[in-house]
Amino acid sequence: MLYHSTNNPSHQVDLKEAILRSLPPDNGLYMPDTLPVLDSSFWQIWRELSFQEIGIAVADAFFGEDVPPQALVDIVEGTLSFDAPLVTLGPGDHILELFHGPTLAFKDFGARFMARLMAWLTRDDDRELTVLVATSGDTGGAVASAFHNVPGTRVIILYPQGKVSGLQEKQLTALGGNITALEIQGTFDDCQALVKSAFLDRELAETLNLTSANSINLARLVPQSFYYIHAARQLPEGVKPTFVIPSGNFGNLTAGLLAMQLGLPVEHFVAATNKNDVVPEFLRSGQYNPRPSVPTISNAMDVGAPSNFVRMQALFGGSWDAMKSRISGMTFTDDQTRAAIRTVKALHQYEIDPHGAVGWLAAQKWRASHPTSPTITLETAHPAKFPDVMENELGPNSIEIPARLAILAQREKVATLLPADKAAFRDWLVSFK
Ligand SMILES: *Cc1c(COP(=O)(O)O)cnc(C)c1O
Repeated sequence: MLYHSTNNPSHQVDLKEAILRSLPPDNGLYMPDTLPVLDSSFWQIWRELSFQEIGIAVADAFFGEDVPPQALVDIVEGTLSFDAPLVTLGPGDHILELFHGPTLAFKDFGARFMARLMAWLTRDDDRELTVLVATSGDTGGAVASAFHNVPGTRVIILYPQGKVSGLQEKQLTALGGNITALEIQGTFDDCQALVKSAFLDRELAETLNLTSANSINLARLVPQSFYYIHAARQLPEGVKPTFVIPSGNFGNLTAGLLAMQLGLPVEHFVAATNKNDVVPEFLRSGQYNPRPSVPTISNAMDVGAPSNFVRMQALFGGSWDAMKSRISGMTFTDDQTRAAIRTVKALHQYEIDPHGAVGWLAAQKWRASHPTSPTITLETAHPAKFPDVMENELGPNSIEIPARLAILAQREKVATLLPADKAAFRDWLVSFK
């Protein structure tokens, strides 16, 4: 299979380049030349398959031309070492829990798959693959955990000193092994600038065999389509779900569109956002106005220029009418989100995190006007990741911290302190063994 840039269909690359390069030189995003469809033999038995079997079939549809069957099985089974349960709160009101992975957010699915696919693509290279990533918090934790102990790879994470939460810092600095953390005396933007300077330094990038693990990598999207199929098959036969997706960069929603393209029967998609509502506004008005993000309590969705929007457009052939016939946008304030956290607890004894709460609000609104259409709301993170908001709404000690997070909290932080200075960073990289 060949891949092309959304900015230039004739710029084609193979799988290895699309995944390891992550971003085309023209600043578009990579898309497969042909979008795979699962044939009727799959859709005759899909409801009987396990989560892993669904993952293997989807991964084969996308990557089967380039990656042999056993390698794909290993990659998918290594990725899906935890479940994504569907929880029913009330009639037609379903929640898909995507936080059972090691770092308690759905980003574990994409990061774990990407780590394993990258390791396979570079299996014959005589040099280790060095993943360089700047993080403001969560993405770095998911990437670090995903690559931890993956043979032939090592990760260097840059994070801004004093600007990530205590638990997030432990996720970046306490793993050890092939994960190295650099604590930068500067901002997240400084960290990003340092990473960029390393990639622009051709000689250095080549010597260290550098790659990036940012969220627009195609290898992070494909595994996110697995759980749409896995969730839908748990509804009664013949029932078509409406998926409600709390969104920021719109990777998750794009993965849902890929699942529909594969043949999954879907009634509708609802894109739920906080005040950063560039996409809901576009769906309403046809005007696309990216702008600086504003901070909210669902901060993983504070995105003012969603990077996957160009992929969504490509999937609808650039047609606004086609997109809005499939996706509706809804937006909610922090006050509404806080009230929803309390309401879900009072009505259902369920603790929903601020991102899931934005989705839950959208699901109630959707079903109010479409009473026969059951909703599946993606719960993108565990509430324990947001202790301040949760305790504010539900009271002190209202959220139990999962053991895998509590263990990490006790481990020692190991990080190298560096100034936000390109020359100092380059010197450190050159001497890094
Ligand atoms: C990253 C993230 C989102 C946004 O997902 P996108 O794919 O960028 O739209 C939503 N919720 C949580 C908890 C996240 O970490």
